[in-house]
Amino acid sequence: MNEKEAKKQIQKLREEINYHNTKYYVENNPIISDYEYDMLLKKLETLEAQFPDLVTADSPTQRVGGEPLKGFRTVEHKRPMLSLDNAYSFDELREYDERIKKNCRDVEYICEPKIDGVSIALIYENGIFVRGATRGDGSKGDDITTNLRTIRSIPLRLQGSSLKNAEIRGEVYFPISVFQRFNKEQEKKGEQVFANPRNAAAGSLRQLDPRIVALRPLDTFLYYVSHSDIDFETHEKSLELLRTAGFRVNPLIEKVSNIDEAISYCKNLETKREALDYEIDGVVLKVNLIAQQNQLGSTIKHPRWAIAFKFTAKQATTQLKDIVIQVGRTGTLTPVAILEPAQVGGVTVSRATLHNFDELKRKDIRIGDVVLVERSGDVIPQVVKSIAEKRRGDEKIRVIPRKCPVCGSDVIRTLDEVAVRCPNQQCPARLKWRLEYFASRDAMDIDHLGGQTIDKLIEKGLVDTIADLYELTEKDLLTLEGFKEKSVKNLLESIEKSKQQGLARLIYGLGIRHVGKYAAQLLASHCCSIDELARKSAEELMQIHGLGEKTAESIATFFATQENIELIKRLKDIGMRTKEIKKEGSLSGKKFVFTGALPSLSRPDASGLVMKNGGIVSSSIGKDIDFVVVGTDPGSKYQKAKKLELTIIDENEFKKLVGVL
Ligand SMILES: [Zn+2]
Repeated sequence: MNEKEAKKQIQKLREEINYHNTKYYVENNPIISDYEYDMLLKKLETLEAQFPDLVTADSPTQRVGGEPLKGFRTVEHKRPMLSLDNAYSFDELREYDERIKKNCRDVEYICEPKIDGVSIALIYENGIFVRGATRGDGSKGDDITTNLRTIRSIPLRLQGSSLKNAEIRGEVYFPISVFQRFNKEQEKKGEQVFANPRNAAAGSLRQLDPRIVALRPLDTFLYYVSHSDIDFETHEKSLELLRTAGFRVNPLIEKVSNIDEAISYCKNLETKREALDYEIDGVVLKVNLIAQQNQLGSTIKHPRWAIAFKFTAKQATTQLKDIVIQVGRTGTLTPVAILEPAQVGGVTVSRATLHNFDELKRKDIRIGDVVLVERSGDVIPQVVKSIAEKRRGDEKIRVIPRKCPVCGSDVIRTLDEVAVRCPNQQCPARLKWRLEYFASRDAMDIDHLGGQTIDKLIEKGLVDTIADLYELTEKDLLTLEGFKEKSVKNLLESIEKSKQQGLARLIYGLGIRHVGKYAAQLLASHCCSIDELARKSAEELMQIHGLGEKTAESIATFFATQENIELIKRLKDIGMRTKEIKKEGSLSGKKFVFTGALPSLSRPDASGLVMKNGGIVSSSIGKDIDFVVVGTDPGSKYQKAKKLELTIIDENEFKKLVGVL
């Protein structure tokens, strides 16, 4: 294919992908499967890899996120992002309307749900998205362009509209429906969990690595053209234009012709509040006619042509009766407030999270306090603060427990972490999670051992540790509900088979904090056996290139814990393969880095081939890398590899090495 032809094809693919993007992310009405969409994107990626000169900033491939940033640049907003004046009652809304009517006649309002997210300003030049920033202090915000690019509902190029140069404002939010699951996954990975969807949106946008942002399900609603080369007659018309340009505009926005209708809108929307997949905290009323908006102008703080009506807060005050300790699936001890039952935004609340002990101390929340409780989204209610003025003097401070309330192990707390955890891998509170993780596909890959079966095993008291799995008998399993001879045989065979999965999977399956798949492979290739790994100090482990300090310390702690020492001994006793078998001439321990697109192998396939042969796939170039596999359009890694004089090979050479050619 020549460049001219490629250009045409690329153009066509981009239009097609953008079209489907709008269908999916803006209209919520996809007309092709995710697979078909991925294939279109892949095709475009391949073409762009062949013709790197044709890659432009507005290409859909540019959404996946580039290299991490060092920090955000501060940028000045073209026009200050003012905050809105608030009204907390319908009377206040009527007063506002009276003030407006002193200056303007026949006022129409546009009523918009007030999205509780993160305010952003997007700048388009010649129809291309060039910059996006947070609100910041109103006059200056953070340049988060690379992160915003990853959000699919933000058009990188404005569609078939007359809008070319503009600053557009709106809100980024984290959908409620995926928020809880997201937090659970974060917790599982030992990463930050967020108090509510808005914090999750803000936290995601503050990520310095846009590749992480690209994995977050962020979405947007845009609601205001703050500056453009078009003169709009009404706010309504500007919203219509935003829609045709490819932005997501909230479907619940309505025009009303007087304040009574506006109040009905507010009442009606408040009843729908719980059913929406995004959080709203009120209604924004905007004067529709732009001429009237201009006439009204702004104060230093607020525009006079708009006001926010705030819904009743989902907050209440009540008495905190006790603080109990919950042990989570990763062993984290969380203080939980037991409350005098109270109505919070229409729901009775009797428990609320206190997040962690640092928060507890910082907020100085004591047993017996009167506290302010808040509910937000679908999440567990939280204690916002204690009301110190109401103290009587007999309130008690809850100190950090020294022992796990479930198993009695001494708790641990590292300097850089706020979490207090139970280090006992066999702590019953963590057992289910531990077993699921151990049996998962990336770990020991034990067929027929799913969550329900694990529940039954725990319920019957048949397993207390991972090692117990290997001592299950036919007789034991036949006592489980729904288990017949055939299913028992299948499960026992899968368990037996897993003994041979090898050292890397075993290390991963142990669920040591901070030890992911890559670290597990790295450890397996450096230490020939689990015993050797267990003997290494944190300092020795840190000598392994690619292993961080946190990970090294976490491993050392794991193997210093008595329960874990016993677990390893038992695993060896039952015949678990705990030594790495070094094959002669194989790629055992050899490290690979891929850069650029390979002609025939996908990245996961290529990585799979490396691992199958005992090699390790690394993501960063260093002196210790044995092979750098280079495809078309390689990145900076290629230059670095040349500088370090590493062995650089192409796909064919790679295939020979891994034995598929
Ligand atoms: Zn415990």
